[in-house]
Amino acid sequence: MTAQIINGKAISDMIREEVKAETDKLRQQGVVPGLAVVLVGEDPASKVYVGSKEKACIQLGFYSEVHRLSADTSEEELLALIHKLNEQSTINGILVQLPLPKHINEKAVIDAISVDKDVDGFHPESVGNLVIGDDSLLPCTPAGVIELIKRAGTDIAGKHAVVIGRSNIVGKPVAMLLLRENATVTICHSRTANLKEIASQADILVAAIGRAKAIDSSYVKPGAVVIDVGINRLPDGKLAGDVDYEDCLEVSGAITPVPGGVGPMTITMLMSNTLKAAKKAHGIG
Ligand code: NAD
Repeated sequence: MTAQIINGKAISDMIREEVKAETDKLRQQGVVPGLAVVLVGEDPASKVYVGSKEKACIQLGFYSEVHRLSADTSEEELLALIHKLNEQSTINGILVQLPLPKHINEKAVIDAISVDKDVDGFHPESVGNLVIGDDSLLPCTPAGVIELIKRAGTDIAGKHAVVIGRSNIVGKPVAMLLLRENATVTICHSRTANLKEIASQADILVAAIGRAKAIDSSYVKPGAVVIDVGINRLPDGKLAGDVDYEDCLEVSGAITPVPGGVGPMTITMLMSNTLKAAKKAHGIG
């Protein structure tokens, strides 16, 4: 048996087509979704991510603003920009690219973003809404994980899902979303005893650890759906996930590759969130 390979690029393209079609319809009603991305400093990876977000906006016909600020921008200056964007009617989504320079309090900045424009889904009120099951903008990578599982044809309800990793940006929200989809959820982390024993009971296994190839086939129940969130740079410059893909290919029922699995979904879900925020701002169902 060889696993179904979950093609994140193809699924992401399909969702972008859907977002584009809806955006074209909205335009006829005079509504153009607008995204503001704020980059502080010169972090090379952040620059690449911001460029990709700008490109996606153009591709989908969104209004896009990119604010590239110098590394010595003060917290006050950044907060003033956020307040301005909160008030600006052409902007429906605000994303501050993380990490921020050390002298800026990340939490103060995230808290300042209007919850209606919180397309990253990191604001405490968005997190609270996610936990209690209210409608909210969902964090992009976790929402992408759920889309991949569903669009690969897996019914989540009643399954045992094991999430390895408990970060605020991936592990915890993925676990909450799986719970919302009626999975039975176990969250594992660096202090979990018997990780292998627990992981190998999973019908759906999500790895968000940040350690290259940490999960080999001995952690995977035959036929399980394996979602690899990890992006790790190997010494030879290549990218690897948290899952040993080659080793798990045979035993899994379905598996995401790295690159080309979860990665392409993140920006697509950001676009989907911006569209959703624009519709809400204009009272469109
Ligand atoms: P993090 O470092 O904040 O969290 C890692 C989690 O893994 C922690 O909760 C920790 O308890 C757990 N962990 C660490 N070592 C472990 C071990 N030996 N056994 C079990 N659990 C262990 O990382 P993060 O921000 O959640 O990111 C995780 C991975 O996902 C990284 O590789 C990151 O690059 C990637 N990522 C990808 C995307 C994407 O768009 N695809 C987005 C965000 C993060």
